[in-house]
Amino acid sequence: MIPYGRQNIDQADIDSVVEVLKSDFITQGPAIESFENAVSAYCSSSYAVAVSNATGALHIACLALGIGQGDEVWTSPNTFVASANCALYCGANIDFVDINPKTYNMDIDSLVSKLKLAEKKNRLPKVVIPVHFAGQSCDMKSIYDLSKIYGFKIIEDASHAVGGKYAGQRIGNCLYSNATVFSFHPVKIITTGEGGMLTTNDNSLFEKFQLLRSHGITRNPKRMTSESVGAGAWYYQQTELGFNYRMTDIQAALGASQLKRLDQFISRRKEIADNYTRLLKGLPIITPFQDPKSESAFHLYPIRLIPGSTKINRKQLFEHLRSCGIGVQVHYIPVHTQPYYQKLGFRIGDFPEAEKYYESVLSLPMFYDLTDEQQEYVVKTIKDILS
Ligand SMILES: *Cc1c(COP(=O)(O)O)cnc(C)c1O
Repeated sequence: MIPYGRQNIDQADIDSVVEVLKSDFITQGPAIESFENAVSAYCSSSYAVAVSNATGALHIACLALGIGQGDEVWTSPNTFVASANCALYCGANIDFVDINPKTYNMDIDSLVSKLKLAEKKNRLPKVVIPVHFAGQSCDMKSIYDLSKIYGFKIIEDASHAVGGKYAGQRIGNCLYSNATVFSFHPVKIITTGEGGMLTTNDNSLFEKFQLLRSHGITRNPKRMTSESVGAGAWYYQQTELGFNYRMTDIQAALGASQLKRLDQFISRRKEIADNYTRLLKGLPIITPFQDPKSESAFHLYPIRLIPGSTKINRKQLFEHLRSCGIGVQVHYIPVHTQPYYQKLGFRIGDFPEAEKYYESVLSLPMFYDLTDEQQEYVVKTIKDILS
């Protein structure tokens, strides 16, 4: 089976991990800080904080921005459930902004009208979480401008987008957000097995991320309350209710080694995307729109059957490709249609663009090691069944 995504691990990656395994620290050692420094240098952010996964990163980003009981958080319905669950972990209310049918990202016009309505009802969001779907950035400048008018904070869910660019600059530089979250799950662009990273330019957020990642405990006397005066070197203080969301040094070593090949990974992914777009031309298929303001990291290559123009539907195409050994997937089942979210009061029909998109979409295999031959086989199989 050709999977829809998979990691690439080379000898240098293995050597970096083995080196840490033979060293004094396998967690909370120097590999964490050197991975963090490499990510913040790569993205041009002031700070980076490594965590156990992007889900934990989203959770502590919400907490650090003051999200709690009764607050409103908005995200896209076309995402993995973690982008929304983080608000619920904090006791906040979650709501969604429908997607743009062309970019599949949060739609700016929908955001504007939802904000106007929320202002009247006095229920403006405290945090908005745009998701850079498939690796292509949202229109961050517009979202940022709206945040200044309506007073919300921004967490970019860039789980798909490490290495991508917006307006000529790296995603993760937080020019138009308070914090950015990356995921290093094996299907994503680079991997640490499990892992995530927060970037920010805000020193006080950086310090909160560090605290919340590790039980709310600090060993830095400057961050302690005054009662610490006179205590010895054993002393630490818990000043917040934090978690164990730490990354291991084993993972960080893998991440730092992968990061060195990130640009190479993305240029191959772009080549694969360009090939698909070229090879699928002339078929009743919508290939992904590329925003000229953005350089996608090409995490996914979602195609859509043009409704009413094919003799088979998405489910039939999906099953046919799977039966031919092609591991297609569907991204995403709109979050608000999940049973858990239905229990919260969301209804089918609430976000029609995300629902319409979901009905027709399918992700083709997209990963660094996908060969030209495998890609041609994927396209030929699609052509054969559609003709
Ligand atoms: C993968 C993913 C996450 C969660 O990442 P983990 O590192 O597995 O916790 C969150 N948001 C989006 C959009 C994702 O694709």
